[in-house]
Amino acid sequence: MNVLDSELLAEELELSGYERASSPRQADIILLNTCSVRQHAEDKVYSLLGRMKHQDARRPKKIIGVLGCMAQKDQMLIFRRAPWVDLVVGPGRLALLPGLLERAAAGEGPILEVSLDRNAAPLAAVSESFKCFLHRNTFAAFPRTQAMVRIMFGCDKCCSYCVVPQVRGPEQSRPAKEILEEVRRLADAGCLEVTLLGQTVNSYKDRSGPRTVVLADLLEMLHEIDGLRRIKFVTNHPRHMTKMLLEGVRDLPKVCPYLHVPAQSGSDAVLRRMKRGYTAGWYREMLARVREIIPQAVVTSDFIVGFCGESEEDFAQTVDLVRFARFKNSFIFKYSPRPGTAAEKLADDVPEAVKRRRNNQLLAVQNAISFEDNQAFVGRKVEILVEGSSKLGLKQAAAREKVQMVGRTTCDRIVVFDGEPQSAGRLLDVRILRADALTLFGRLEQDSPAS
Ligand code: SAH
Ligand code: SF4
Repeated sequence: MNVLDSELLAEELELSGYERASSPRQADIILLNTCSVRQHAEDKVYSLLGRMKHQDARRPKKIIGVLGCMAQKDQMLIFRRAPWVDLVVGPGRLALLPGLLERAAAGEGPILEVSLDRNAAPLAAVSESFKCFLHRNTFAAFPRTQAMVRIMFGCDKCCSYCVVPQVRGPEQSRPAKEILEEVRRLADAGCLEVTLLGQTVNSYKDRSGPRTVVLADLLEMLHEIDGLRRIKFVTNHPRHMTKMLLEGVRDLPKVCPYLHVPAQSGSDAVLRRMKRGYTAGWYREMLARVREIIPQAVVTSDFIVGFCGESEEDFAQTVDLVRFARFKNSFIFKYSPRPGTAAEKLADDVPEAVKRRRNNQLLAVQNAISFEDNQAFVGRKVEILVEGSSKLGLKQAAAREKVQMVGRTTCDRIVVFDGEPQSAGRLLDVRILRADALTLFGRLEQDSPAS
């Protein structure tokens, strides 16, 4: 969501006549788009702000803005900790930024522009205050072969560890009509793949029209769009994995059978304290349903290790779940207490060293599974959407005609191969030669279609 916000904001500002600076030193305006999900992300922003203190002495003065979830969460605290900041703008107010920048340039700072606190006003008013998010306004000016499309914002779940419902506000679905129009215009400008975004994307529900549109309906409508080749959606909540949605994924060839469905833990006691609303057994049944309906489905997950009161036995149950589920990959996080969440009142009683050990242990189990499952691809031909040069490819570019390129399969597997830089944005067939846990290494097929 933050990557999308930054992208849309940069486009919006470029269209208003701003130019990208080549380095922060050269910039007249520095905007930090921030995340609040874990403490570490916030620490990095405050440390960066600390290093910006002396920019103030420069003439003409730089404008410094803190945007996104940390802005919504910390509000005035940011000005207190870093008085050289001019702007603090929450994620639900970002559309106002061009005007706010003009006011800051006119010397009106410090300016605080945030949405209402969740319990400070009636729900309708709070929801409204998060609606000034950024819309995609340009298509031809910034054509892209892959695009993220926000279909919902906010979250109404109450996972006890999570700050998102506070900082991104109540769950709201964008009207299907608006989403269809956006994707149609993206596809007309050459976009091949869209990734639909929502905190619990599978609870999408548009009630603005004569008939309620759920995610399965939306996928069906998007599937009709000419030119569009791939549709992905993240992040799913296990409780909303309906049969209707799974059948939609099975029956609509453009919809990638790739499902990110975070489990968070394999222990019922921990899941209860996390207030996730399901048990580990229930999650396993959900997975069995997924595999029955979509045998080729690829599932990925998130886990939090070291949550309040997590015992060795609880952790062992998480390891069991990872072994059972054979996720393609899992994102594993050490629990980080967040102010204002329900879990803040529970003791953060798992020592940092234990959190680190469990993180590494779980990652090793997951990596061994990823490695094994990736070996099954060796010798197979896969279709990839080429995303661009790999890091190595960028270094090779000057010296070689062919460079290392990177792309993704429909199931989100990363593939690298030697190819031409101009192949970025094309769908190509690649034969896989070898694989490690995170990457498939392949060779371009001779007769690969020039899509
Ligand atoms: N809406 C998505 C993503 C939420 S944030 C979802 O429900 O899955 C992304 C991930 O960060 C979460 O899945 C969770 O694993 C992790 N996370 C959230 N809060 C956290 C916290 N306080 N400490 C550590 N990890 C956290
Ligand atoms: Fe946070 Fe839970 Fe909402 Fe995901 S579903 S954003 S983890 S509250």
